[in-house]
Amino acid sequence: MSTADAAHVDMGGVDPAHFRKTVGNFATGVAVVSCTDEGDPAPHGMTISSFTSISLTPPTILISIKPGRMHKLISKEGWFGVSVLGEDQKGHSQFFAGERGPETPSFATRNRIPTLKDCLAWFECEVTSRIQVHDHTLFVAKVMHCDVIGGAPLLFFSSRYNAVQSSQS
Ligand SMILES: Cc1cc2nc3c(=O)[nH]c(=O)nc-3n(C[C@H](O)[C@H](O)[C@H](O)COP(=O)(O)OP(=O)(O)OC[C@H]3O[C@@H](n4cnc5c(N)ncnc54)[C@H](O)[C@@H]3O)c2cc1C
Repeated sequence: MSTADAAHVDMGGVDPAHFRKTVGNFATGVAVVSCTDEGDPAPHGMTISSFTSISLTPPTILISIKPGRMHKLISKEGWFGVSVLGEDQKGHSQFFAGERGPETPSFATRNRIPTLKDCLAWFECEVTSRIQVHDHTLFVAKVMHCDVIGGAPLLFFSSRYNAVQSSQS
């Protein structure tokens, strides 16, 4: 085995469950990706935490999506919406992660892609490139429209939902 091969093995030795627990200490917001499906009048939504701003000029974001219905829809449409969830929208996060309750959260089409009617901020994005990384696809997208509605965020930390604690300095 070459030195380069040995270094690769050493660096790749982290157990996935241990990695998951460790990386969960990086707190994120929670967002819902949305996309239209031509045979279905209702938009499809999916909960994500992998929403990242990449550049300001041009305004660019990325999301990381595993195989499933949303992956297929974004690949087909080339556009998607992102709605940032507020602290009282844990139910929306659970709904769009597969725990379907009786009431579907409402969507509004501000320009081209439906995003959640109630959310902290929304984005309408056009895919500019995609990068396959193991079992996930990174969709890099240009932000075509966005706006802030406002409020306190829903957070995800150490596999649990949290709200921002107000602190005094
Ligand atoms: C707080 C939070 C953050 C999350 N962040 C992310 C994130 O950043 N990225 C992410 O990808 N998910 C994330 N998830 C999980 C995601 O919300 C759920 O897995 C959701 O149900 C996927 O929606 P879907 O319509 O694409 O999947 P569906 O098509 O409804 O599929 C449901 C499940 O089956 C799996 N599946 C379906 N088809 C295939 C296939 N062909 N091959 C392999 N697996 C398949 C999907 O991966 C999914 O887990 C997050 C969940 C939570 C609660």
